[in-house]
Amino acid sequence: MDLKKLAETLIPDNDLLPPEEYENIFPARELEKGAEVTRLAPSPTGFIHLGNLYSALADERCAHTTGGVFYLRIEDTDEKRKVEGAVESVIRSLKYFGIKFDEGAEIESPLNKYGPYYQRRRAKIYRSFVKKLIEEGLAYPCFCTAEELDEVRAKQTENKETTGYYGGYAKCRNLTEEQIYKNIEDGKPFVIRLKSQGSIENKITFRDAIKGDITVTENDQDVVILKSDGIPTYHFAHAIDDHFMRTTLVIRGEEWLSSLPVHIELHKALGFKPPRYAHTCSLMKMDGGTKRKLSKRKDPELSLDYYRKAGYYPLAVVKYLMTVLNSNFEEWTLKNPDGDYRDFKFKIDKMGKSGALFDLDKLNDVSKTEISKLSAEDCYEFLKEWADEFGTEKDKEHFKNRDYIVSILNLIMGTNGKKRRKDIERAEQGVRLIDYFFDDTFNPAREFRFDKNTVNGVLEQFAAVYEPSDDNSAWFAKLKEVAKNCGFAAEMNDYKAHPENYKGSVSDAAEILRVAVTGKPNSPDLCTIMGILGKDRSVRRLLSAKIN
Ligand code: GLU
Repeated sequence: MDLKKLAETLIPDNDLLPPEEYENIFPARELEKGAEVTRLAPSPTGFIHLGNLYSALADERCAHTTGGVFYLRIEDTDEKRKVEGAVESVIRSLKYFGIKFDEGAEIESPLNKYGPYYQRRRAKIYRSFVKKLIEEGLAYPCFCTAEELDEVRAKQTENKETTGYYGGYAKCRNLTEEQIYKNIEDGKPFVIRLKSQGSIENKITFRDAIKGDITVTENDQDVVILKSDGIPTYHFAHAIDDHFMRTTLVIRGEEWLSSLPVHIELHKALGFKPPRYAHTCSLMKMDGGTKRKLSKRKDPELSLDYYRKAGYYPLAVVKYLMTVLNSNFEEWTLKNPDGDYRDFKFKIDKMGKSGALFDLDKLNDVSKTEISKLSAEDCYEFLKEWADEFGTEKDKEHFKNRDYIVSILNLIMGTNGKKRRKDIERAEQGVRLIDYFFDDTFNPAREFRFDKNTVNGVLEQFAAVYEPSDDNSAWFAKLKEVAKNCGFAAEMNDYKAHPENYKGSVSDAAEILRVAVTGKPNSPDLCTIMGILGKDRSVRRLLSAKIN
């Protein structure tokens, strides 16, 4: 068969460069030995998820701990799934978590020499190589219809055989020249398939940077490389792009592991040295005692938007993911509690080989710890940013009052120093935690454990003597006095010795004040809270809590 003529007929484009040219257009990168070139290659579907951040962090760390490059490539071959603004959203979301690309789609960089970084804009490169493979007899046109392929599949399933287009089932592999040109003349749509040279009798062993040595069966499937609309499949685009963008380490989900034999064969057919691969295990969660994959449908925490809306401290999410990525990171943080996670020696081969467990409770703990390290001023900025973007109109109004909130935060977090309180877990919860400091969001369902006379007595008497200028001990002395007048033990020891003689202890009396002022039986130091609220508001709250 005249393969050159066939290639010209199937790929008649007259604006293609010869394939060898691309080696010069995209020369090897000038980087130090050992520098890794990694990439994130999302489809622009608009759904950016935790798995993307997890991968991106591994990519970014591998590149930046070795003096390499981390770039963004957009895999937009599936036009139907494309969503407007999705690329910007990937960049913005990752930037929020402190992850930046050095190069790639929508990234302003002098390094952008390996583009275009959108696959749809790389059609000429793909077509030039498809043409070459046809000329070499390593690819051929397939005219099978979807119905024909379905029939073959059904037959294979019935015979309990491997499904797919291979060996004797690869009908179009053996079409004569005449049949091919007749089909073309008849206007039958076609795809281009790889003419596999592999055999399932052969095994290939390769080293995965995470999973170690893996032995797989050679590919014998004549996979589609160019679809009928002239757009390549993931397999083909991956081989071309990662070769010419000079990726050294492909970090991708383990769902691609089963396609690896195809990718190895494609690289061989194209005459490329394959990159190294690192297949990451899927993120899992515990659900009713069993471990399962995080699912888009069931788990809102899979979406990255979830973390922004809930107001997680971005560095906490990253640090927690670092623990999931490299289990020795936790040990490192214990030794370097204030260290920058970028100083940790991230190692791809220390990543887990199976199911990485993502535990929201652990993330919450890390988030509390990270927030507790902030100064009250920085915490204010963090909460304000959240309130301005996701809060109610009231929240936005409250956050105009910087000094007032900083004093609340000083109280809630404890003064800067070694032991800080960890009451704020996320911005959303933190903003709700201080609601009671504002009259328009103070909406208590006050519940008292004592009778009307006792409660009203404590409230009225304390309201009458309260002075915001009183320091802690003066405040407490007044409370003791009021407590005693109302039948409570002023001293804890007296109460413990003879509980039957009292209505309760001084701390029970304090609880009455606390419920009145904050709406809750537990709160940080009440004297300070009343000081922040000021005399009028404190007294008003005490008196309005009286039982009718
Ligand atoms: N576009 C592929 C995906 O989103 C990329 C896989 C890869 O990293 O090679 O799953």
